[in-house]
Amino acid sequence: MNCTDECRKIYVDNAATTKMSKTAINAMLPYMDGVYGNPSSLHSVGQKANEALVSARERIAKCLGCTAREITFTSGGSEADNQAIISAAKLGEKKGKKHIVSTAFEHHAVLHTLEKLKKEGFEITLLDVHENGLVNAEQVKAAIRPDTCLVTVMYANNEIGTVQPIKEIGAVCREKGVVFHTDAVQAAGHLHIDVQDQNIDMLSLSAHKFHGPKGIGVLYAKKGIVLANLIDGGAQERGKRAGTENIPAIMGMAAALEEACENIDQNAKKLTALRDKLIAGLSEIPHSILNGDAKQRLPGNVNFCFEGIEGESLLLLLDDKGVYASSGSACTSGSLDPSHVLLAIGRVHDIAHGSLRLTLSEENTDEEIEYTIRAVKDVVEYLRGISPIWRDLTEGKKEFIIK
Ligand SMILES: *Cc1c(COP(=O)(O)O)cnc(C)c1O
Repeated sequence: MNCTDECRKIYVDNAATTKMSKTAINAMLPYMDGVYGNPSSLHSVGQKANEALVSARERIAKCLGCTAREITFTSGGSEADNQAIISAAKLGEKKGKKHIVSTAFEHHAVLHTLEKLKKEGFEITLLDVHENGLVNAEQVKAAIRPDTCLVTVMYANNEIGTVQPIKEIGAVCREKGVVFHTDAVQAAGHLHIDVQDQNIDMLSLSAHKFHGPKGIGVLYAKKGIVLANLIDGGAQERGKRAGTENIPAIMGMAAALEEACENIDQNAKKLTALRDKLIAGLSEIPHSILNGDAKQRLPGNVNFCFEGIEGESLLLLLDDKGVYASSGSACTSGSLDPSHVLLAIGRVHDIAHGSLRLTLSEENTDEEIEYTIRAVKDVVEYLRGISPIWRDLTEGKKEFIIK
């Protein structure tokens, strides 16, 4: 590659969002231009749009192993999480069940919804995710009570990428007769999903995390689970989510999901190799630590803490070198609070502040990974060189936390 540092653009923030695939863009275009009808209209322009809607729902259902009737289109992962949790809570409340089990490192779309329910008298148990960022089915089993109405555990964590034993957790929930929801926003298109085989009752996904458009997602709810409306109005989505359907985005999402699922094993293999190369390279930096289990993690996720480093400065200097990364979730950057995920796996504040998340896509190359490793090494060394904290650490006035 004959590229100077100035022209580099290495996008390694795919957990925040992904570039749309050509397949997804091409699938959308006809529905912005020719087939622009409202699927609720009875005339043929509307009916053409409705045919597209019906087929997209079927194609997405097929990717998840459910039926088309079990798919509800939402504005994205956040809305799907909110609707899933509120629905299960309302159903539970009717039976006098007001206890919910979740984990300490869920996405804020889950955690903030649970906090809201807490104010309405629900009791919430947040499971410990251990230093490796994993929960197990035994913990879930022990936490379930006679008044538990919902277990919600994310499939893969958006910051540290750890992959939870969803099928086993689902089996425990089935055995206990408790609804099981999983936020699969990071997993969809990257890890295999089969809601029947994996005992999943409700699942959220979002198109922009697998090369589809932003602002569109899916809530899968198993037949028999009655959804509560977050948005009232027209009779779209079987009366459970009002508003004219975003047909172009839905078509883009269907195409992106099919494409991702067709290539899932091949992409995972490629990403795992790049990921492990990146982990090996960054592990050479002294006083650094990988966050989350090294193997039970998303194929494209790398997350490190570097002692004596401030995450924001690291990101800005990497940006200068053409490496686009993140220090945690996009939602928490800009605030000075350390990541709740890193705190949940036991990182202390000072260490959690020095975090770096690099999330890969199929488009990243070996050469880009090599450049990224060099760039991170250089920037960490530079920042440590001008840091008074680092001086205290090396002079023995302060003790290293990361050995
Ligand atoms: C991105 C993300 C969400 C939110 O999805 P949006 O479509 O951006 O609302 C929820 N959960 C997880 C795990 C995510 O990574």
